[in-house]
Amino acid sequence: MKNLWSEKQAQKYVGDLATRVYTSNLLGKESSLVLHGGGNTSVKIDVDGEEILYVKGSGWDLATIKEEGFAPVKRSALLEMAKEEELSDSEMVRRQRAAMIDAEAPNPSVEAILHALIPYKYVDHTHADAVVTISNSVNGKELIEKVFPSFLIVDYVMPGFDLAHTIYTMTQDLEWGSIDGIILHHHGIFTFDDDARESYEKMIEAVMQAEVFLQQNAPLQIAQHFEPSECDMQKIVKVLSEAKGYPISLNINQSPLANYYASQDNLREFASRGVLTPEHIIRTKGVPLIMEDTNLEKGVAEYIEAYKAYFNEFATDEIMLNPAPNYMVIKNLAVISFGQTPQEAAIINDIVEHTMKAVLQADKLGGYKSISLKESFAMEYWELEQAKLKK
Ligand SMILES: [Zn+2]
Repeated sequence: MKNLWSEKQAQKYVGDLATRVYTSNLLGKESSLVLHGGGNTSVKIDVDGEEILYVKGSGWDLATIKEEGFAPVKRSALLEMAKEEELSDSEMVRRQRAAMIDAEAPNPSVEAILHALIPYKYVDHTHADAVVTISNSVNGKELIEKVFPSFLIVDYVMPGFDLAHTIYTMTQDLEWGSIDGIILHHHGIFTFDDDARESYEKMIEAVMQAEVFLQQNAPLQIAQHFEPSECDMQKIVKVLSEAKGYPISLNINQSPLANYYASQDNLREFASRGVLTPEHIIRTKGVPLIMEDTNLEKGVAEYIEAYKAYFNEFATDEIMLNPAPNYMVIKNLAVISFGQTPQEAAIINDIVEHTMKAVLQADKLGGYKSISLKESFAMEYWELEQAKLKK
């Protein structure tokens, strides 16, 4: 993890919001901090005597966000919302929009209330690989406390209102100056400061601490376990396109990491232990298709059956998503992601690439352990995602 701050570059960004853009872009440049729309940032600015939270708008990526990507919301309204005992995420989004001072701006991040609660000007939030790798290990709670003794540590709660209200409750009597940041188990990390550079550098330093811990306690040696051979691409495209109901593009990963990952014993159990950070589930689903010793048609059919069983176990009135897999691991051959476009397949592959490394490292810490199936379902079938389908 490198500190990318450049005083010369920073000087080109004049004003609080512009500086917020600069450090957001720095975070976004580092794929081991955030991937494809992950993470969010904010800055609190006084506008005509009212404190306004400019928070990342949904649909924007930290790597490329500009000033117009930030949604300006009255902080006082967000703080009022935090006190509610109960609030659906759809109602939260509606009230956040109503509290915006620019109707043209994008919807504020679902983590806006949490940003509002933190009484510092700049707030940075990432899903840093090194932090979630440690958290997603069987002794994650203990290890996170050891690596981050001065952080507020929060057990897993679904992102959105529930998480914001949990933080509200936990911080009622907190002396904010006594903590250096917040760790959300199985999810990510927050740092904050009244200075943009300080907030960014606190993030980099915290993540470096986690990286050093992993280097010392879970050094990873990736060894090639088999000679890569060719995949039957035509067959895969045909079978998966039929299962998906639309023509798919493949992203074939035979990197040393994918090679090592696909060569593991008990591959099905090994590679089906859940997502690195909750929002990845929208792209990857909870588990991949594992191909060991059966034919592809049968493997896909079994995957779909298992997916339907998972859906039926947890669903109340949700609409089932496409039950076909989004990626697969073929024993001793490759890791292959499927997308409607080559870009989508590449995005899924990026997420899987980071997940594979985390799984292998967490195993060195005693075993990888992500959120439960029930929690995965809640995220995959989040009412905000479902609302788009029900329209
Ligand atoms: Zn997050």
